[in-house]
Amino acid sequence: MCIQVRLDSTSIPNTKPSCNTGQMNSDFGVKWNNRTAQQLVSYESLFRLIDEIHPLEDILEIAQRVARQWKYFANVAAWRLVIQNDDVYTVIDGVHGKAVIENVEMPSSWDAHFMRSRRPALFSVSDIPDSPSVPEHLVSKKISQIGVIPFVKIESCYALITVAALHEPFTDIDKKFIRLFSSHLTSLIHAILIQKRTTDTLIKKATHDYLTGMLNREAIIERLDIFFRLSKRTGDPLSIVIADIDHFKRINDTYGHPAGDRVLQSVSRILTTQTRDSDHVGRYGGEEFLFVLYPCEANQALQAAERRREAVLNHPVPISENADPVRLTVSFGLSTMTHDDISPDYLIARADAALYEAKNNGRNRCVFQ
Ligand code: GH3
Ligand code: MG
Ligand code: MG
Repeated sequence: MCIQVRLDSTSIPNTKPSCNTGQMNSDFGVKWNNRTAQQLVSYESLFRLIDEIHPLEDILEIAQRVARQWKYFANVAAWRLVIQNDDVYTVIDGVHGKAVIENVEMPSSWDAHFMRSRRPALFSVSDIPDSPSVPEHLVSKKISQIGVIPFVKIESCYALITVAALHEPFTDIDKKFIRLFSSHLTSLIHAILIQKRTTDTLIKKATHDYLTGMLNREAIIERLDIFFRLSKRTGDPLSIVIADIDHFKRINDTYGHPAGDRVLQSVSRILTTQTRDSDHVGRYGGEEFLFVLYPCEANQALQAAERRREAVLNHPVPISENADPVRLTVSFGLSTMTHDDISPDYLIARADAALYEAKNNGRNRCVFQ
């Protein structure tokens, strides 16, 4: 027996159909039968599943849940969601019950094409265009249809979803579920991305030095605390290096403070070019930098400091258009953690004393204590 029902906004929780959905958006009248009832149950339970995830939690977790469930209520076997967030595109691919997320600078030709055209589309297998080429995971022998829904805000397309039907083409009710669910999913992930970006910006501002872009003093000392505790636990060696530009005051006195700022930026870049993932470096003071190297033995730390000393020496720094680049030197004080060190302050004190010695012995050198 078939009963005619209406799927309206009161029967579907949390839907925000704000997108430009064109032909995927037909009338709301649907044929009600066991299958559609089952679809509605799956649809509602997926809504609950993704909504119970706190917005700041993992987008991947949401995507995995969708990848596992979507085929049950709208025959979506594989899908791609692309969301533009400033100059980055977040691409989420779902297939075989799994999801992967990638951030890219340029969308694929398929995504770029439909984001530009801002028109929804529905292709059966025989009329899928060769160009732009469909994302690979959306085409297989079992795919019977591909649908595209752009999401448009103030004349610009900020997101695009492409869905692939398994075996049978999408039914009318599949299309309704796809439209409603895509809209909800896109709004949710878009909001999370914006929130994440805002939080990341705030964290970056709080932990990074405005001039050099390096970690600031608080942040690099926090890293030192972390690796100090880790080193105590694991026994792996921890070394630190304090680098101080020689006679930097003269730069300010001769060329002015703004030129001094530019020199600081250049030197910080030279000092960090050879930094490995296991190295952490921050601006420790005015013209002083602190390196936290873990795991790193004393002799490796000495080699690392020596490489950086030579790099600065061999890269004269531009001062202004009229003046020749200036050759600067840097002095380095190093220390490595010992059993007697009961806090990071001990390491810092020894590296400081070593730096003092380097200055007293003529500068442009590395001293270990
Ligand atoms: P030394 O070789 O003994 O280290 O001599 P120095 O001149 O480098 O050291 P000193 O401590 O006498 O001077 C450091 C100078 O660094 C003084 C300060 O004005 C300058 N400085 C600190 N922070 C900044 C900054 O953010 N921008 C600029 N332009 N100068 C800075
Ligand atoms: Mg200094
Ligand atoms: Mg100095």
